Amino acid sequence: MSRIPLPDRASVVVIGGGVIGTSVAFHLAEAGVPDVVLLERGELGCGSTCRAAGGVRAQFSDELNIALGARSLEAFTRFRERPGQEIDLHQVGYLFLLSTPEQVAAFERDVELQNELGVTSRMIDVDEARRLSPLIDTEGVLAAAFSPDDGHCTPESVVLGYATAARRHGAVLRTGIEVLDLERRGDCVTAVVTDRGTISAETVICAAGAWSAAVGEMAGVDLPVQPVRRQVMFTEPMPGLPPAVPFTIDFATSFYFHREGRGLLLGMSDPEQEPGFHLEYSDGWLPRLGAAIEARAPRLLDVGLAPGWAGLYEVTPDHNALIGRAEETANFLYATGFSGHGFLQAPAVGEVIRDLCLGREPFVDVRPLSAARFATGASVRPETHVV
Ligand SMILES: Cc1cc2nc3c(=O)[nH]c(=O)nc-3n(C[C@H](O)[C@H](O)[C@H](O)COP(=O)(O)OP(=O)(O)OC[C@H]3O[C@@H](n4cnc5c(N)ncnc54)[C@H](O)[C@@H]3O)c2cc1C
Repeated sequence: MSRIPLPDRASVVVIGGGVIGTSVAFHLAEAGVPDVVLLERGELGCGSTCRAAGGVRAQFSDELNIALGARSLEAFTRFRERPGQEIDLHQVGYLFLLSTPEQVAAFERDVELQNELGVTSRMIDVDEARRLSPLIDTEGVLAAAFSPDDGHCTPESVVLGYATAARRHGAVLRTGIEVLDLERRGDCVTAVVTDRGTISAETVICAAGAWSAAVGEMAGVDLPVQPVRRQVMFTEPMPGLPPAVPFTIDFATSFYFHREGRGLLLGMSDPEQEPGFHLEYSDGWLPRLGAAIEARAPRLLDVGLAPGWAGLYEVTPDHNALIGRAEETANFLYATGFSGHGFLQAPAVGEVIRDLCLGREPFVDVRPLSAARFATGASVRPETHVV
């Protein structure tokens, strides 16, 4: 544990050192905001970020998520220059396999919208899907949606890049420090109480991922975020694997895979998973995963599989993020509840939070993502590209 004392004041305290917190710290410090302090109770990236599959995409079903995804994708492609880090970006495309007429109709509408917004996705037939992703069995597949600019990159490298550049711009990022409470006066947060001392703060930003509801409570703000376990597995090295395997998703089952080193990373949702901070890897999902593999990528049954890890999705009731400035507590902002998309939205979200902090107009109107939407009934359309 570092013996360097905590600063006793900050213009902005960011709570959480995952991809969102480090992106926010970087964007604020780069914009010249002095005395930015980020507090992380573990190591940088140790929460959900280092458990992510690394998927990055702009294929979503509504304008706001498409905008956040596309803006971030652009930033990922230039990450080597700004903030200045190699992130092993593979733009191999995202391939959604569709097996009901309803799914096909919905994706046709979504692709049209994505195209209007400049995303180069397209509907493709079954033969082309098989050519792009040769491991799949296309029995029952009616069509697919493919977006060639999507792909995957390495979450730890993204965190490293943002953290290093934030520090270069003068931000203080401290690990091993737990935020225990927030002191409040009137409708403002005045200080952040930690296990290593108290920091007076002009602005506080919650980037605490699956743990955000507790941080919201400290500020008197309802952040409806539930932790839900998600798991991944790996295949052994697969000689002859094509160099560019798209991030392939069987939309009906949510089974997905992408290339990782010399093998594949595999994942899938488990509809029976109860919410909670379950972080241990469990074999409970294997029968369902095995059935999905048998139906959609049976060649993987002949390959050795190894358990990967468990992590937490930070899920909101409508599977859309919570981004904004709290109405009840004026100097408390939040960026959380990404419901499985936090890694891919992090660059754009860092920009948006920077602008909200500085009173600038963000590049996209995030008011529909206000946490207050659930209380006022002004809900946004549930995100449908949930995997
Ligand atoms: C298996 C799996 C696969 C995924 N795949 C993808 C994917 O392909 N693409 C994608 O976009 N997303 C994916 N995700 C989701 C993605 O990982 C998250 O949305 C994203 O990492 C959220 O980042 P964050 O910074 O908000 O949260 P985190 O990375 O969880 O960071 C929050 C941090 O806050 C810290 N913290 C909490 N409370 C306190 C406190 N009181 N004091 C101090 N520190 C505190 C925690 O220790 C933690 O490090 C996946 C998730 C899982 C589990």
